[in-house]
Amino acid sequence: MTPRVAASQSRGIVVVGAGLVGPVAAMYLARRHGPVTVLEQRPDPRGTSTRADRSLTVILSARGWRVMEDLGLAERVRGLCLPLKGRMGHLPDGSTDFTPYSRDGSPIWAVERRRLQHLLLDAAAATPGVELRFGQRVHAIDLDGPRVTVGDDSGTHRLSCTRLLGCDGARSAVRAAMVRRGARERVGTLELAYQEINLPLPGCDPEIMHYWPAGDALFGAFPMLSADLFAGSVFLRREGPAPSFAAASSPEDRARQFHDLFPQLTAHITDLRDQLAVKPVSTVSLVRCDTWVHGERAALLGDACHAMAPFMGQGMNCGFEDARTLVRLLDETGDWGAALARYQDVRRADGDSIADISHEHYRTMSRLPGQSETELESAVIRRLQDLFPGRFVPLYERCAFSEQSYASAWADEQALRRVAHALTRSHGTAVRDLTDDQLRRHRLLV
Ligand SMILES: Cc1cc2nc3c(=O)[nH]c(=O)nc-3n(C[C@H](O)[C@H](O)[C@H](O)COP(=O)(O)OP(=O)(O)OC[C@H]3O[C@@H](n4cnc5c(N)ncnc54)[C@H](O)[C@@H]3O)c2cc1C
Repeated sequence: MTPRVAASQSRGIVVVGAGLVGPVAAMYLARRHGPVTVLEQRPDPRGTSTRADRSLTVILSARGWRVMEDLGLAERVRGLCLPLKGRMGHLPDGSTDFTPYSRDGSPIWAVERRRLQHLLLDAAAATPGVELRFGQRVHAIDLDGPRVTVGDDSGTHRLSCTRLLGCDGARSAVRAAMVRRGARERVGTLELAYQEINLPLPGCDPEIMHYWPAGDALFGAFPMLSADLFAGSVFLRREGPAPSFAAASSPEDRARQFHDLFPQLTAHITDLRDQLAVKPVSTVSLVRCDTWVHGERAALLGDACHAMAPFMGQGMNCGFEDARTLVRLLDETGDWGAALARYQDVRRADGDSIADISHEHYRTMSRLPGQSETELESAVIRRLQDLFPGRFVPLYERCAFSEQSYASAWADEQALRRVAHALTRSHGTAVRDLTDDQLRRHRLLV
């Protein structure tokens, strides 16, 4: 017998997912566009902690701060953050390589994901018009209604709404509904997985992100506000021969592999084997989708439409910017159909661009000196950025310290790379000998 499904009418917009982007979207929308109900499949995470997400650190940069300011949360969020001035590569020969995040010394900000999410949920719950409902799994969606079928402890019920926003992460049910209506998605898993390992790093500056490149692997560590520890993660290939997670399945094998890759670190981690035994190996989902909206009724935001590799620290920032852009377009057009169409046009190109940039950034960070075929071009690029600081802005700075659209930042970077390539092709290694003046007047640069 088919179970009876109760039906109800929501008061307005339904947001699926109360991760990081869902509460932000709800706060923006409730202020201008009426009541918002947020449906989250998991229990309320506030007041509980799980081992799995205890220490994951995320970076807030300019786009994220803009959103926190819009929502009046910047000061409270700042209280949870630590500033980071740059990243320090610790190379196998014992030398170090410091890269400031910005040329004027401005920091990016590290925050424990769990703390940030709790703050956002508290703020959303306190926003007039926002209702958070936990333990509500959306498992069927009618995009035209729009209408969702929700399962909870009491059974199954249907909820109609005026608009439906999918902030439900990489395995989005809202995106799945769009795919059933013809949207095309590309969903995958990053070839690297990661495992968190917390460690003390005596002598390491806590205002810097530290990383240890090992060619095929990378260890990265962020300072933590709540402990005298750094929150580290080892990134390794999921499959294939060593070094990989597949090649070392027992905690002992993993500890041995870790020691072979990062001998400088093992002395600091007295409980390495225990941590490797209990902490999960996490994979990273990758999502692209050619359709982000359904008419004037539904839209995707955040990882639901652009889950990406984490190495630029932009996934959440991009998701926050999605919400801000959508609301801005609604303000400008006063019309959901026009706003959603424009939202898809603008943000899909941005989402694809930052996903490409993020994937490439891992190669840059994990690479050892001498491994790059384009080292000469990279040196030329740095020189051009010094010589023309307004014209050639480092890509990281464009993404993390500006609100330039990701697509246009990526296009500017490609243009810079073409100039550097042309210079090295026409001068070879003698490009290093060109004087500043010769470069300034070079035909490729005027
Ligand atoms: C290792 C790592 C480091 C990262 N570092 C950074 C960083 O430094 N800076 C940065 O900007 N980004 C970073 N990111 C990316 C960032 O974590 C994500 O982009 C962000 O969490 C996406 O938020 P979201 O709300 O879109 O999705 P999620 O956080 O995945 O939330 C989706 C929510 O929807 C709920 N849900 C799913 N399906 C349903 C359903 N059917 N019904 C009801 N609820 C549902 C889920 O339970 C979940 O709570 C990192 C990611 C990783 C993996």
